[in-house]
Amino acid sequence: MAKKYVYKFGGGKADGTGEMKNLLGGKGANLAEMCNLAIPVPPGFTLTTEVCTAYYDSGRKYPSELEGQVKQALAFVEKLMGRKFGDPKRPLLVSVRSGARQSMPGMMETVLNVGLTDSTLQGMIDETGDPRFVYDSYRRLIMMYSDVVMEKAAGIEPAEGQGIRGQLEHLMEARKHARGVTLDTDLTAEDLKILSEQFKAKVKELLGKPFPDNAMEQLWGGIGAVFSSWMGKRAVEYRRIEKLPAHWGTAVNVQAMVFGNMGDDCATGVAFTRNPATGENAFYGEFLTNAQGEDVVAGIRTPAPINDSSKNEANKVNRTLEEVMPEPYRQLNQIRLKLEAHYKDMQDIEFTIERDKLWMLQTRNGKRTGNAAVRMAVEMAESRMIDRKTAVMRVKPEQLLELLLPMLDPKVEAATLPAAKGLPAGPGGAVGEIVFTADDAASRAKAGHKVLLVRAETSPEDVHGMHASEGILTSKGGMTSHAALVARGWGKCCIVGCSALQIDMRNRTLTIGGKVYREGDVFSLNGTQGKVYDHALPMVFPDLEHNECYMKIMAWGDTFRKIGIRTNADTPEDANRARKFGAQGIGLFRIEHMFYGEGSDHSLFLLRKMIMSKSVEERTEALNELFPFMKADIKRTLAVMDGLPVTIRLLDPPLHEFVPRAQERLEELAASLHIDMNDLHKRAESLHENNPMMGHRGVRLGVTYPEITETQIRAILEAAAELIKENKKALPEIMVPVTCTSKELDCQKVIVDKVHKEVCEKFGLKKVPYLYGTMIEIPRAALTSDKMAETAEFFSFGTNDLTQMSFGFSRDDIGGFLSDYLEQKLLPEDPFATIDNEAVAELIKISIERGRKTRPNLKVGICGEHGGDPASVRFCHSAGLNYVSCSPFRVPIARFAAAQAAIIDEQKAAAAAPAKAVKKAAKKASPKKAAPKKAAAKKAAPKAAPKKAAPKKVAKKAAPKAAAKTVKKAAKKAARRAGR
Ligand code: PEP
Ligand code: MG
Repeated sequence: MAKKYVYKFGGGKADGTGEMKNLLGGKGANLAEMCNLAIPVPPGFTLTTEVCTAYYDSGRKYPSELEGQVKQALAFVEKLMGRKFGDPKRPLLVSVRSGARQSMPGMMETVLNVGLTDSTLQGMIDETGDPRFVYDSYRRLIMMYSDVVMEKAAGIEPAEGQGIRGQLEHLMEARKHARGVTLDTDLTAEDLKILSEQFKAKVKELLGKPFPDNAMEQLWGGIGAVFSSWMGKRAVEYRRIEKLPAHWGTAVNVQAMVFGNMGDDCATGVAFTRNPATGENAFYGEFLTNAQGEDVVAGIRTPAPINDSSKNEANKVNRTLEEVMPEPYRQLNQIRLKLEAHYKDMQDIEFTIERDKLWMLQTRNGKRTGNAAVRMAVEMAESRMIDRKTAVMRVKPEQLLELLLPMLDPKVEAATLPAAKGLPAGPGGAVGEIVFTADDAASRAKAGHKVLLVRAETSPEDVHGMHASEGILTSKGGMTSHAALVARGWGKCCIVGCSALQIDMRNRTLTIGGKVYREGDVFSLNGTQGKVYDHALPMVFPDLEHNECYMKIMAWGDTFRKIGIRTNADTPEDANRARKFGAQGIGLFRIEHMFYGEGSDHSLFLLRKMIMSKSVEERTEALNELFPFMKADIKRTLAVMDGLPVTIRLLDPPLHEFVPRAQERLEELAASLHIDMNDLHKRAESLHENNPMMGHRGVRLGVTYPEITETQIRAILEAAAELIKENKKALPEIMVPVTCTSKELDCQKVIVDKVHKEVCEKFGLKKVPYLYGTMIEIPRAALTSDKMAETAEFFSFGTNDLTQMSFGFSRDDIGGFLSDYLEQKLLPEDPFATIDNEAVAELIKISIERGRKTRPNLKVGICGEHGGDPASVRFCHSAGLNYVSCSPFRVPIARFAAAQAAIIDEQKAAAAAPAKAVKKAAKKASPKKAAPKKAAAKKAAPKAAPKKAAPKKVAKKAAPKAAAKTVKKAAKKAARRAGR
């Protein structure tokens, strides 16, 4: 039997169903489904996506069976409509539209009114008695056809503004001008007739071919143009951004035309079964009387609201569809309810009313804002339309950000072109005056201005200005650059790596694409999408605490979630905020970050003094001065977390970040160290490293200067001991960074044991509970995890560095070339944003496997920036991590992504269960094979559900033998280096 390439629909039945999206495209499948539901749909047929693939596979030729099948389907439509295609008396007109599996709004082509020719034109006029309507339809066909089929599909690329459509629009404008009217609807039948002739002449003149006067030729031209548009520039670019594969192909829908432009008892419109902006369960839509669909979208006339709940400032003066055409509106509302009950989701629908008769042209799941997504999911679950798991799956984790942060008004933004684009480093929106230095940001903010700090990149010296700013914009840097890390931690809007910015510090100007902006000019940033606007956009502020739907859906998600969620927090304020967002502990408290924030000037100064010290005495003096600050900060954070685990990461400052640059600061430092500026410069120079990211940082500092480790451990354990003495709870986890060999861990553990003993004695305690573990952020550490786990009680994957060191990409410089890698498809995505599946994920899996072989109850988490990325959270769930840790504002996103990962697992297992059960039953029926022991369903239980760390004994709690020796050696070496 010949392959079926064409599927018919109409007259209350269809060859296809709503399930067949892959073959019929979204539009075709839903048209079929609506027919099957006895919803009035103009009859038509769908050419499958397989035609598209075959067309491209065979050098743009159709399968031989296609023509016959199209003819047959056309006859089916003709019969239902009582008309004939190309017939001069009762002509059938059709629309030709695209329809991929997933909607690609505006990316592909449509041709309406196909079948109008000189002869059918007259037939239509005789039949309708309305020459104005017929000539209006004709001039639309010529415009669309010449644009879509004769120009675009033919590969003609006219210069900007020189396209055929624009030229024809000029002719129309000229006509309106000559007649002294402003609206298209003011043109008479005679005007439109003259225009149609002018259009045809222009087409021939510009495109060198006449507009075809044959219905069949028009139909095949339209079909070919839709298939061609699948490989058109816009569609290819859209697929690249949305990561849709080219091999899907598009379907083509040919459908009998119904007319919304036949007079005042006709209309066309677009509606949503619920409000897509707020989620309110109220029918929402717009329409135009006496118009065709394209007019609603094109914005030539302001559409009117379909009912009172669709009124806004711009359209509230217009009469509603409910008032103008009550009966079609009543039917439309009924169809709305039917469709929603059937699809169990909010639908985006298109309709046309022809002489008071309602026709449905499209239905599909509607796009919605984050707020609307949450509200609809909760309300649908509460009305039992869907279950709670489905409700949780309905909201994209990233959409939750919209609920948490002030953002640019999405409605206004949708109608605005960005001036530039960068990497979306810190979420939310920000509007303010641009400034180019941190000091200016701080002083202007103090004077009451809202500012945006624009820098090439930021450093710890900019922190006060960053903090004072509404948002941060840098021309350099990647997703884990200083600006990105700090901003994300604060939940501050930030865009980095925006390479279109040219900053001139001398003249305090910013140039984008040749346009010059000065300090004080107002910009708006969308940090969630990385978009920069060169003027003020309105902001909208969310109110979370009173958002009942948000609270409910988060709680539902938590009932399904299997892994824990912690936060990366460096201050008690951050810790508090993260707990409110649902964090179950701190996965990364970076000691050095306590020197960044506001009011930390003195401790930063002491840290710098410690870094610039040369002798052990000097260093110890600085450390002793630093100690009370460190202890107090740690204690406050432990207290806020109230017995929840707090992973405190020992100092890991890339030293270059902390050497001050300002003269005044350098002088202060010299005075405090009792040395002159010459000496200070020499010391600063000696700290200079060619490759500081791989230099003297992390555990390496503790190896060279054990006193640095000792001070930190004492601060941590004394803070915990004091809380215990105050009858409070504290659970510190001491984490050693940048380790590459288990011996480093052993050597630092000796210090920890010694300090622990001393603190217990000082506070009269038997023990201060703590865990000792390491970050796994160097590939060597990952591969030697069996050894690492002999000493480490927990691992936390520092995937920022693990990615940097696996790829050899500098995390601070990748912004400069990442876009080339993405554009040329050398990388699927930014590996600093989403865990690289091929290598970094593999290292993590190997590390967990080896680590847990040594220590089965090894606790494993992640604290790199990936901990807040939904795709990476899904990976962490399936790799068996105990928790993910991310910045406070990403906690809800991680919670939700983890819940969805668990639900997906469960669904996969359930889907596999019947197949397995059948296999087992077959086995059982076979006399040769042994009967299975367990029920099939049990066996199909989710494999990937992460094991909770079983409180088994440590396989080999290796007391580090060589450690004491190593420490002694290290101390000697350090002494040598320090010139003792
Ligand atoms: C990491 O490397 O992933 C990490 C969390 O540490 P940092 O970003 O401080 O280097
Ligand atoms: Mg690191």
